[in-house]
Amino acid sequence: MASVLERFIRYARYDTQSDERSTTYPSTPGQLILLRDLAAELAAMGLADANIDSYGYVTATIPATPGVPDDTPAIGFIAHVDTSPEMSGAGVKPIVHRNYDGRDLVLPDDATAVLRLEDNPDLSDQIGHDVVTASGTTLLGADDKAGVAEIVTAAEYLIAHADVPHGRIRIAFTPDEEVGRGTAHFDVARFGARYAYTLDGGSRGEVESESFSADALTATFIGFNTHPGYARGRMINAIKVAADFIAHLPADRLSPETTDGYDGFVHPYVLHASVDRTSVRLLIRDFTRGGLVEKESEVEALARAAIARFPGARVELAVEESYRNMREILDQHPHVVECACEAVRQAGLEVKRRVIRGGTDGSKLSFMGLPTPNLFAGEHNFHSRLEWVSVQDMEKAVEVIVNLARIWCTKRP
Ligand SMILES: [Zn+2]
Repeated sequence: MASVLERFIRYARYDTQSDERSTTYPSTPGQLILLRDLAAELAAMGLADANIDSYGYVTATIPATPGVPDDTPAIGFIAHVDTSPEMSGAGVKPIVHRNYDGRDLVLPDDATAVLRLEDNPDLSDQIGHDVVTASGTTLLGADDKAGVAEIVTAAEYLIAHADVPHGRIRIAFTPDEEVGRGTAHFDVARFGARYAYTLDGGSRGEVESESFSADALTATFIGFNTHPGYARGRMINAIKVAADFIAHLPADRLSPETTDGYDGFVHPYVLHASVDRTSVRLLIRDFTRGGLVEKESEVEALARAAIARFPGARVELAVEESYRNMREILDQHPHVVECACEAVRQAGLEVKRRVIRGGTDGSKLSFMGLPTPNLFAGEHNFHSRLEWVSVQDMEKAVEVIVNLARIWCTKRP
């Protein structure tokens, strides 16, 4: 049997960077190469229905073991194959630093890329473990190829150990999570799992059942353009109105730079500017719908205050829903998270509950009818040249998947 490390290194070498500007699905052809190879790998392991669909989604089934109760729900395990558009994923050279002892890990292709214990407190849990990094010029892609490797390895284990009882297990590997389109064509009914888990989290022991609720707000400021040489008393410069609005956004609260934990924010991140029309796009984030509405009202008030300072200027506001806190759904199915916590404890780990200050595919899937919390995969320093994962954490994640498969048919509440 291949180890989770061998698999992870093999997958990390594929360039599967996604691209938000692309209009194809998946957004890049590199993802399809890995997805096809994963479908073939699952089929070769004996998963007879391993399949890749026209969008690139790979699915497969581990049939229930004989004698498990008929009402055992089908459980899914999901990971994404793409890597972040923010950092190169071409030519990734994974390096295994054996028996980590707290030393600086200097990455060979860029002397300024140094993974230091003092900057990465989570490394203190890895003394004596094997830490995998890239070589300094690319991300590693543990987000989320660690999750992919863990699911494939757990599947192989379950196939080889018929003595571990479990219900029907469904596997899915998805493209384009990093560009927010991971579930765009995901067919929940065809997937056929009652509950699922994404393996796309950080430190060992983490179980995440809360994500942000997220909207995107566009404020379009409309001015009046005319020849600047003859503009006295006539021109209204929408760029100046928008700049005034942005300057009045709160700085010491409600911004990404000044919040953490359960505090949300408003975050201007794209600007399209001209004298006649300038639009500002803002991310709105909170953990509750009420909090989102409050923040949107505050942004609206600031936008109206800005136009009031520029007589004749106008503003148009539009809000688009991005995703909602998965907790709204998961609270209705508490056993989904309870089983995950039990699986973590059975692996000899302490359960760490954490909120996701972002969204996962599970945020969307939960609202599409498939309650899907997120489990640790061992990922650290997401989307960075200093991304790392520990081999022992990946092995623990494999154990947690196997435990979960068993728990759902033996200890189900
Ligand atoms: Zn991820």
